[in-house]
Parts: sequence; structure tokens; C-alpha cells
Amino acid sequence: MTVLDLVLSLALLISLGFCAWLRARRHPSSPVPPPPPAPDPLAALRQPAFLAVADGIDTGVIVVDSTRHIQFLNEPAEAMLGIGQLLRSQSLIAMIRDHQADAIVAQALRDGEPREIVLKPIPSGRTLLLRCTPLNPNGQISGAMLLIHDVTQISMLERARRDLVANVSHELRTPLASLKLLVETVQSAPPPEVAQRMLDLMAQEIDAVTQLVDELHELAQIESGRVALKLTPTPLLPVVERAIARIRPQADRTQITISAEIHDEQCLALIDADRIGQVLLNLLHNAVKFNRTGGAVVVRATLVAPVAPAGTTADDPCGEGDWFHVSVSDTGMGIPSQDLPRIFERFYKVDRARTRHAGGTGLGLAIAKHLIEGHGGRLWAESTEGHGSTFSFTLPVA
Ligand code: ADP
Repeated sequence: MTVLDLVLSLALLISLGFCAWLRARRHPSSPVPPPPPAPDPLAALRQPAFLAVADGIDTGVIVVDSTRHIQFLNEPAEAMLGIGQLLRSQSLIAMIRDHQADAIVAQALRDGEPREIVLKPIPSGRTLLLRCTPLNPNGQISGAMLLIHDVTQISMLERARRDLVANVSHELRTPLASLKLLVETVQSAPPPEVAQRMLDLMAQEIDAVTQLVDELHELAQIESGRVALKLTPTPLLPVVERAIARIRPQADRTQITISAEIHDEQCLALIDADRIGQVLLNLLHNAVKFNRTGGAVVVRATLVAPVAPAGTTADDPCGEGDWFHVSVSDTGMGIPSQDLPRIFERFYKVDRARTRHAGGTGLGLAIAKHLIEGHGGRLWAESTEGHGSTFSFTLPVA
């Protein structure tokens, strides 16, 4: 060992000793302070500001700890899940009763990855989107925040769109299949009278497809608000008479009588006469189509005044707030009670097999309902199966 090596070793030893002394000065060895308490990762849940925001928003918020027990649940979450009271500290599965949702929360707590799932809780009947985000403030997963969005409306719209496509393709398939058959028959050069019959049938099928496309277009126009009603004070009697005149040839073919009982003729209705004529024609068409040979159809219109306050008399017979009640009654096959609430849905037909020969798109009542509601009125049906039906609507007095 040279003198230089010795000097260097000594210098190293001295500097190490100095560092040790400095460290000892900065961190005296006694007394050792107790370690600070571990921060409560869910303490923010008790902050008044958090509580105020969580109850004020329309998103459901649930916070669970690492064992999936509820630490926080806001009011919108209670309402969306249809649970009566705050079930704090209950397990998540006991509250939402959905094993898939519980499983994705467990996975998120395990691997720290956010996840989402769609729930349909039975008590509330809604469609909910549940998003689970793990909480790891110190790099350690201490629980998870579940945000719940009510997507019932969006999923209903999506279902309606899917149903519409399915219904339109179903309705088009039948006439297109028979058109194909008819064309093939005509192509095989049948005798002229057979060919003529086939051509007549083809014309009928084309009419059916055209009607479907027209009604679909009209419904789309009405639903998107592109049909402006031209509301004018109008007497109801001529509107009713015109509709009856148009349906009479069809009624005569099966000896069905049609009569009208119009009361309060001195009062005018605030209506778009063409559109109300269209509604009446649709109801009359059904009343004849679903009637029996020799049956009857009656159109009635009468004023329904709001109840006059006690001690007063309503001296103006066509006063503001009065309504016409219009009804179309038939003596036909009627509508089973389980189908009655659904007949105003697009494409809904009672027992397709029973009504196939009658034709029709199943769109007429949906259009009529929109038109009456566009006038501020209401359209509804009453029926006794085997005895007949009455379709009624209300219209404002001018
Ligand atoms: P369409 O008559 O073109 O099928 P609608 O929307 O007008 O379509 O009617 C829907 C369904 O409601 C009909 O297919 C039929 O099953 C039922 N319906 C409507 N009106 C009557 C009625 N007066 N009597 C019996 N059933 C009816």
C-alpha cells in the first residue's frame, strides 16, 4: 500500500463518519415518533360539499369499500334501483341483487380496470348503465365508485327502431313473395283469362305495398313534427258526412248500415278538417272491415262541458274549455281485452291470422292517435269481444 492509498482510505473513512454524524444530527435516534395514522381513503364521502353535490345530480352514485360493502349511496341511486331506504354497510349483492354487476365490481377491485354493465332491476323496471371505477388514491385499491345512468329512454328508442325495421321487412315480405309468384305464373304463358286474374292480383299487391310506404312516410312526417295542422273553426256535421259518404260503397257490399247522431251543431270545433276527416275515415274503415254482414256503425258527436262551479250556470253553450266527444261504434268482432291497450302501437294487429284477409298495415290507429293528440285531444277504445267496439276522441271547441 502506497502513501497515496493510505491517505485516500483515511479521507473516505472520515467522510463516511461525517455523513453518519450529520444524519444522526438531523434524525436523532430517540425518541422515535409514532407513525402517522393511515389516511382514510373514503373520508371524502363525509365532506358536506360531496354530500350536497351527490344528492343534487341526476346520476346514481354508490361507493363500496374493498370488500364490496356500501359506504355511500345517493338518493338518485336509491330511486333508480327501486330500493326503499339507505342500506349503508350492506353488501352490494344484497342491495342490487345482480350477480353479474357484483362480479364486474369484484374484478375492477382486483385489477384496477374500470368496467361497465347494463342492469334491468325488476322493482323499478328501468334500464340502467352502471360504470365502476376503482378508487386507488395511494396506489392501493381501497374501494370503487359506481356511477349509474338511467338509459331507459335511449334503450326504448333503440328497441322501437329495431322493431320498426323488423316490422317493415316483415310487412313487405308477404306482398313481395306473392308478386314474385304471380310474375312467374304470367311468364309461363297461361291462358289469357288466368293471366288477367294474375295481373289484377299483382295490382292489388302493389296497392298494398304503396299504402304501407305512404302510411310509413306520413307517420314519420307527423312524428317529426313536420305536419302543421291548419286549425280553423269548423262545423263537425259536414266533416262526418263526407267521411261516411266515402266509406258507404264498401259498407253496402256487406249490407252494413251507417248512421250519424250529431248534437250541438251550433258549436264549431277548432280543427284541421282534412286531418279529422282522415281520422274518421280510418275509424269508419275499421268499423266496416271488422264488422259482420248486416251489422251497424254509428257516429256520434256531442259537447262535453266542464262542470260549472257550484252556484253558477254555464250560459255560453260553446264556452272556452268545452270539448266535443266524437265516437264511432260498430257491432263487429270486438277486440280482446289483452290487445286493447296495444292497438295504437305501430304495426299492431289483433290476431294476424284472423285479420289477414282484411288487409291493412296496422299503422292507421297510430297515425290517428298522433293527429288527435296534435289537436290537443285524446283517442281511446272500448270493446267487448264478439259484440263490437267504440273508438272515441275529443276535440276542442272553437
Ligand atoms: P289496420 O286496420 O290497417 O290493420 P289499424 O291501426 O287501423 O290498422 O288497426 C290496428 C288493429 O286494431 C287492426 O288490425 C285490428 O286488429 C284492430 N282493430 C282496429 N279497429 C277495430 C275494430 N273496429 N274492430 C275490431 N278490431 C279493430
